[in-house]
Amino acid sequence: MINITKTQPAPPCLEIEKKKKSGNYRCGTVLPRLKADFHNKCYICENAGITNINVEHFRPHQDDIDLKFDWNNLFYACGHCNNTKSNKYQNLLDCTNLSQQITDLIQFDIKPFPYEMPKISAIQKGSIAVDETVSLLQAVYNGTTQLKQIESANLRQKLIVEIAAFGELLRQYYFKFGLSDKEKERISSEIRRKLHPAAAFTAFKVWIIKNNKQFKTDFPIQKY
Ligand SMILES: [Zn+2]
Repeated sequence: MINITKTQPAPPCLEIEKKKKSGNYRCGTVLPRLKADFHNKCYICENAGITNINVEHFRPHQDDIDLKFDWNNLFYACGHCNNTKSNKYQNLLDCTNLSQQITDLIQFDIKPFPYEMPKISAIQKGSIAVDETVSLLQAVYNGTTQLKQIESANLRQKLIVEIAAFGELLRQYYFKFGLSDKEKERISSEIRRKLHPAAAFTAFKVWIIKNNKQFKTDFPIQKY
């Protein structure tokens, strides 16, 4: 999970749909706007190019009409994460609130080897929102039911492949012998592209950078 900038103002259709008896919150430009704002990625697991897209209510609406049609409450998630979250988490960190940087509050670690498990942890203890977000992320990457454990294993496989590819780029950048300036610049821009909010599993790569003094100097982390 990383921070996301939600564009404003809200799509005008939401106010119109809200007044209808069975209005649709996926109206007008809602879907393309969410797709663009969330970089076509699930905001919880950071899987990119998802094929089971859900428009999810960050705060469960439970038939509260204002929450149901509130643009700021509409998020873009995969079915696996939306289903895991359900209405069980009421105090999560809001990734669209840019005053709190998710990757400053939560540490994301994974080793780039098959069957490794992600380690998600709070930087400081004592925040209900941070603890609850850590708990949701652990549930998402581990799976809470037999079916979701299979989905989580598939998700972790994608995560590990992405992290291994990122590690390979770093290895080439620092250790590959005889690189021309042009080749080194190409690898450098590829590394920066993989740290962009639109890349998959960015939070884990941000933490690879944050954990290494040399990486931090050469690839400073941008605020989102
Ligand atoms: Zn997800």
